Amino acid sequence: MSTRTLLILGGTQEAYQLAEALAAEPIPRLGTVLTSLSGATAKPRLPAGALRVGGFGGVAGLAAFFREASVHQVVDATHPFAAQMSAQAVQACELTKVPLVRLARPAWVPEPDDHWIMLPNLEAAHDWLQEHPGRVFLTVGERGWEVFRSLDGARFWVRTLQAPAPDAWPGASWVQQRGPFSVEAEQAWMEAQSISVLVSKNSGGTATQAKLEAARARSTPVLMIERPVLPEAPTVETVEEALLWLRRS
Ligand code: NAP
Repeated sequence: MSTRTLLILGGTQEAYQLAEALAAEPIPRLGTVLTSLSGATAKPRLPAGALRVGGFGGVAGLAAFFREASVHQVVDATHPFAAQMSAQAVQACELTKVPLVRLARPAWVPEPDDHWIMLPNLEAAHDWLQEHPGRVFLTVGERGWEVFRSLDGARFWVRTLQAPAPDAWPGASWVQQRGPFSVEAEQAWMEAQSISVLVSKNSGGTATQAKLEAARARSTPVLMIERPVLPEAPTVETVEEALLWLRRS
């Protein structure tokens, strides 16, 4: 390993794209480009460059890792809902004086024909559905669907990447699919199941945006979970901006 490490906290398309761009056009003084994944996905796609997998052990563990691996710059390219990792990155970088830049794609914003109900968290969506049971398309990813498991009255279709344990939620129908999705396919699928409400985190990006366009076309309400508030950090919205930042750093 080189004597300097650029650490990319990964788990998003943008993290992969950044590692690929740096492999295609290396910036030598950045040293080794190391992507870190949490280990939550059993068979993750491999990033370009070096890879490490698993938690660091909180802020202290992350700060210690910076020293061990001579990390001189961190790009937090975790998912906008990975609030704990992002907060720990800010604290560890402050502690060790390692510069941090957050790469966070812009949040989705509603269009005039959208019927979005903005909710602060998954628990609020649970409570909303308790009051308004329906045929629910739950697209909150691998983390968070358990919140809805105890809910009576509503019928759930749960889309995840990984297959759940066989007894994870016997009453729900599971849909194992990986984006990107087309608007036509999303609309046809929602139509076939007579979906009456869609639940989504405000993840942003294009890979899963089609469901929102399909919901708009069908006038289907969307329970949109707002992003958690993160501690302040210098932030860029695109891979290109992150590359500019790294070239100037
Ligand atoms: P989280 O709640 O913010 O983090 C929980 C713990 O997982 C962290 O304290 C850290 O453990 C470890 N961790 C998280 N991201 C890591 C990374 N990139 N490298 C090493 N350790 C990591 O995170 P989460 O919401 O469970 O998400 C886990 C991963 O899935 C993230 O990489 C995220 O980008 C990705 N992801 C999350 C979502 C979502 O909706 N939350 C969606 C898509 C992808 P230690 O404290 O031991 O260091």
